[in-house]
This record gives sequence, C-alpha cells and structure tokens, in this order.
Amino acid sequence: MRYAIFSDVHANLEALEAVLAEAGSGRPDAYVCLGDVVGYGPDPNECAARVRDLGAATVAGNHDRAALGAVDLDTFSALARAAIEWTQTVLLAETRTWLAALPLRRDIAGGLAVHGSPRDPIEEYILDLPAALANFSAAAFTCCFVGHTHIPGAFVLEPDGRVGTVTLPPGSPVRLRPDARYIVNVGSVGQPRDGDPRASYLILDADAGTVTLRRVSYALATTQAKMAARDLPSVLAQRLALGR
Ligand code: ZN
Repeated sequence: MRYAIFSDVHANLEALEAVLAEAGSGRPDAYVCLGDVVGYGPDPNECAARVRDLGAATVAGNHDRAALGAVDLDTFSALARAAIEWTQTVLLAETRTWLAALPLRRDIAGGLAVHGSPRDPIEEYILDLPAALANFSAAAFTCCFVGHTHIPGAFVLEPDGRVGTVTLPPGSPVRLRPDARYIVNVGSVGQPRDGDPRASYLILDADAGTVTLRRVSYALATTQAKMAARDLPSVLAQRLALGR
C-alpha cells in the first residue's frame, strides 16, 4: 500500500490542487489528511469539498475545530484569529457538518495519524526532542504521522531509548527501521513554515517501509490575490511567498 499523506491545507486551493495533481500521477492507494483543512486561506469550503470528495482519511485540526466555534480563540494569534473569524462567516452548512464529524485519531498502515501529537491531537506542537520523547512514552504507536507545526521532518526513538531527529530530503526515500519508532511530520500544503514556500506532502510506502517527502510549486500569486479580495490580513498573504 502506498499512501499520500498531507496536512495543513489551510484553505489554499491552488496549493491543494498542485499537491493532488502530483500525488495522483503516482497513483497512491489511499489519501490521508492530518487536519487544518480550513483557516488562514481564502477557499475553506472548496478545500473541504475537495478533501471530502477525494475520500481522504481525515482527522481534525485546531483550526477545523476553531472554525466551528469549538476552540477558545484566546489560544490563537491575532492574525490566525482574524482569519478564523472570517472563515466562520463563510462556512457552508455542508462544510460545518463534515468538519464536525472528523475524528481526532485514525489508524493508518498499522500506525497512527493525528494533527498535533498522540497525547494532545489538537493543540500540542512537537518541535523538540523532549516533546517527542514525551509522546513516544505516552502512546504505543510504531509510527505516528503529524502536521500542525508546518515544518516537515521526523523524530526517531532508538531501541536503546535515545531520541533523535531525521531529516527528510525532498524526493529521497527514507527507510523506517523496524526496530525503531518514529514521529513523522509531513509539513504543510497551504502555509509552509520551513523557509521553502513550496507545498509539502509525503508518500508512505508501507510495503517498502519508506517515507518520501515531496515539495510542489503552485500559483501562490493567485492565492494571494484571492486573500486580498477577501480582506484577509495582508501579512498572511505575504508569508506564503516566504514559506514562513
Ligand atoms: Zn496548521
């Protein structure tokens, strides 16, 4: 089985279509979406419909919950909050229904799929070794796929208990050793924050035991123009070009 796993679309339809065009050319057996389909970007209903109609196994993210009014917006930055409040005004009933039904966790290829972390699927950012170690200890997964930070990369727990990082060079398969455990971050489709503005997603080849990060260019000027037309904060549009 080969899985195309993506996260943090953030209502960026141009980035989503570019990712699905490239991923689709490789004919994956299944799609997985790790949440935050909406928030920040200009096309929340269109992106939700696309992910839903694709049949992607999807989990909820913090922005998906916030768009439904299910998360305290005090946890959001001023810019994120402004975008979520706009999103709330445009969400269609069918989008709300779909978002509200998303689970927090899914089992994927014998592994786990969540938005933030195994112990706190909605809120926690796994950004450093202590956070990774705490999550390896908190749940009994072999491999967990996450998004939320918008920064692709992986953490490994060695058989001797040491925890470390694994870089995922775009386009190069990385083998997941059967004697180790992993937390793999697939990056963000619609708002990358690792300095590379290209959309990010990941291919899991469960038979070969490899993951391959993919980066895809898209027409971000189109997304920026839509954001300006919808009066979304200009800083949110500018950051797309920086990958920050
Ligand atoms: Zn996000």
